[in-house]
Amino acid sequence: MRNQWLCGLIAVGLLPGSPAVGADEGKSPPNVVIVFADDLGYGDLGCFGAKGWQTPHLDRLAREGIRFTSFYTAQPVCSASRAALLTGCYPNRLGIHGALGPDHRHGIHHDEVTLAEVLKQRGYATACIGKWHLGHHPPFLPTRHGFDEYFGLPYSNDMWPHRPDLPNNRYPPLPLIEGEKIVNANVTAEDQARLTGWYTERAVRFIERNKDRPFFLYLAHTMPHVPLFVGERFRGSSQAGLYGDVIQEIDASVGAILDTLNRCGVDRNTLILFTSDNGPWLSYGNHGGSAGPLREGKGTVWEGGVRVPCVARWPERIPAGSVCSQPAMTIDLLPTIARLCDAPLPGRPIDGKDISPLLLGDPKGRCPHEAYYFYFGINELQAVRSGRWKLVLPHTYRTMQGQESGQDGKPGRYRQVKIEAPQLYDLENDVGETTDLAAKHPDIASILMAHVEAAREDLGDALTNRSGKNVRPPGRLAD
Ligand code: MG
Repeated sequence: MRNQWLCGLIAVGLLPGSPAVGADEGKSPPNVVIVFADDLGYGDLGCFGAKGWQTPHLDRLAREGIRFTSFYTAQPVCSASRAALLTGCYPNRLGIHGALGPDHRHGIHHDEVTLAEVLKQRGYATACIGKWHLGHHPPFLPTRHGFDEYFGLPYSNDMWPHRPDLPNNRYPPLPLIEGEKIVNANVTAEDQARLTGWYTERAVRFIERNKDRPFFLYLAHTMPHVPLFVGERFRGSSQAGLYGDVIQEIDASVGAILDTLNRCGVDRNTLILFTSDNGPWLSYGNHGGSAGPLREGKGTVWEGGVRVPCVARWPERIPAGSVCSQPAMTIDLLPTIARLCDAPLPGRPIDGKDISPLLLGDPKGRCPHEAYYFYFGINELQAVRSGRWKLVLPHTYRTMQGQESGQDGKPGRYRQVKIEAPQLYDLENDVGETTDLAAKHPDIASILMAHVEAAREDLGDALTNRSGKNVRPPGRLAD
């Protein structure tokens, strides 16, 4: 019976699968650099079709490495997305939802295992530079979760009393943290303009200091999250407005890292991967990015919210010019990097799987997951993807269609749209999710509903009032 069912899945293109490649025995483990942009859209890099600004260094990663065209973040919002990247778990499994702010008293639980903790077991030096967003109280900071050093903002740069679009707001002063110490208690607009430069300098110094041992650098840019700020040197550089200038500064930061790797003689054995935490914040108009051909953006599970650009380069292992169109997700990076670095997996269940055949450009590589789940809000299961098919479940989402656009830092107002019945999309032929095929392919929709039921049982679903059997609590401050 099960065999028959599996054969059925393969026949309708729902179940790919290929053996994983082994760790490369005898070689020293690679250095790992992950650059994570904030709210950068699928269409914001030159190699993903951006017009109006240039991203030569990011395009170089794709040209000399691999470009993923169907790469996902686990949720279209900041904290949840970061929890997934760093733990290999769906963020709702860990109790991390939405975007944590200065009032929150919870964060990542100390029993969860981050990629930094995984790599430390192999002797890696580790640094987190930039936006953390997994809890700003000391027990939740990067230095308590596997990072030797930390420099950056503990949460988003718009949780800020000096916000131009929200004067007289009640946010407390925004701190800049080094290690566990506040080194600047009240970040100003001038400071925000220096953040990308400061992060880049720290990243360069970290690589220089650790070039003789394996290192893991997690550089999570504050930009291009609104309010946008750019370094003096890049103001007006793109001829395409502030957003373009900001992207060009991030691109130059990647260039500085590539130069440093080369200068330090570690270029060939370093895996550098660039991606984004979620899609563009469309209500900000010209201060938000572009999802390219994809539907909607940040805060929705349409492709524009969860599908993000991803490029990676590792000269020793990834063939130049590779392109991967198989689905992959940030939850897969921890087990994949653990495999490639010969590091042990966390001793607790995770959701990600080894996608090293995909990352290493094996044309026969296949997505090892039967399905990916897209949650948003406080645990609403809003969509599932399996193979080429995506089922969007009844829920309410936000759109700017028909609304007046935001401009120059002031947001427009979203309109809420309710989906009443499940909708089915063929992402291979309709990446823009324009044609609902649920009525035409009820068999495929019902196979995807079986995945949905499994996810509701495992992780819960607020839309159907289900509690997950296997969710874990976040860390909480003692009262
Ligand atoms: Mg974000």
